[in-house]
Amino acid sequence: MSEVLVLAETTAAGVRKPTLELLTAARALGEPAAVVFGEASDAVVAQLGEYGATKVYAVGAPEVSDYLSLPKAEAVVQIASAANPVAILVTSGPEGKDVAARVAVRLNSGIVPDATAVSVDGGTVVATQTVFAGRWQARSQVVRGPAVITMRPNATSAEAAPASPSVENVDVAVSEGAKGAKITSRDPKVSTGRPELTDAAVVVAGGRGVGSQEGFAVIEQTADALGAAVGASRTVTDQHWAPHELQVGQTGKTVAPSLYLAAGISGAIQHRAGMQSSKTIVVVNKDAKAPLFQLADFGVVGDLHQVLPALIDEVGKRKG
Ligand SMILES: Cc1cc2nc3c(=O)[nH]c(=O)nc-3n(C[C@H](O)[C@H](O)[C@H](O)COP(=O)(O)OP(=O)(O)OC[C@H]3O[C@@H](n4cnc5c(N)ncnc54)[C@H](O)[C@@H]3O)c2cc1C
Repeated sequence: MSEVLVLAETTAAGVRKPTLELLTAARALGEPAAVVFGEASDAVVAQLGEYGATKVYAVGAPEVSDYLSLPKAEAVVQIASAANPVAILVTSGPEGKDVAARVAVRLNSGIVPDATAVSVDGGTVVATQTVFAGRWQARSQVVRGPAVITMRPNATSAEAAPASPSVENVDVAVSEGAKGAKITSRDPKVSTGRPELTDAAVVVAGGRGVGSQEGFAVIEQTADALGAAVGASRTVTDQHWAPHELQVGQTGKTVAPSLYLAAGISGAIQHRAGMQSSKTIVVVNKDAKAPLFQLADFGVVGDLHQVLPALIDEVGKRKG
């Protein structure tokens, strides 16, 4: 069976959830082989194996973390030229897309960005994209070279399929041309203590209905009561009631948690594009005709400033 390269993203806490989703998706195409940049610790290798990686390429060259995406792209091209994979899967994100595009050009291959699913049809890899704010699905095949596909986080769920990966250390000869942009400092993001929006199992999101920046606090309090991440509509982030990194939707983040609680959000198509794959959707809105109720599994018609505090109280009582 052909290899499917999966570009792994790791943090101090281990392998990021979107990478585990890629490994799960890769199993439908061939044998997942993870590419790890930096240290491939035993814990990282074990976690990759738990989700089906049969091989781990460990790229230890310091250049891959000292410079922006070019050394990573060169490393992937080197590995792909030797392994001849059927596809290369990358998490959709600023760096992932940058690396993926460079890899596709250098392999004289094709790229499909922001896929939501991958499959095989007649022996060829097919990537599915959700387009026009979720109204249409497009299916594409890369017609030459390995299919380079970036996949949206949360488009699929990560499912374990234990394997025992072999580890191959890869020596990469990074060219001088790839060292054009050096990383000179890193400032770790100040943690809010809440889960990452795109990784979270529960998201509580607020819209214009919160009324003000102060009004948005009830969204944060509800999220904290449920151990959830906080999301927002674009109206909220445009008015600086919440930071832009919390925006969910077509021009924000895509989430697909087990539970998405939307309060004071009308349900514009651009917002739905970022959350419609959530497993269970709960809507709180004082207008019974709000379009988001069409997507809701559970709906409460009411003022969020009354409904959410009552919910927080109830959750508190049940936690004891
Ligand atoms: C190119 C483009 C890209 C866009 N990208 C995004 C995107 O990524 N994400 C996004 O969210 N939007 C995006 N938008 C904007 C989108 O079209 C909507 O304008 C936006 O989603 C509306 O935000 P909202 O639901 O918070 O506000 P509104 O549409 O104003 O809805 C507010 C809702 O709150 C309810 N409400 C009011 N008070 C209360 C209360 N006290 N209790 C309960 N309910 C109450 C109202 O009944 C209403 O349904 C984009 C638009 C364009 C043109």
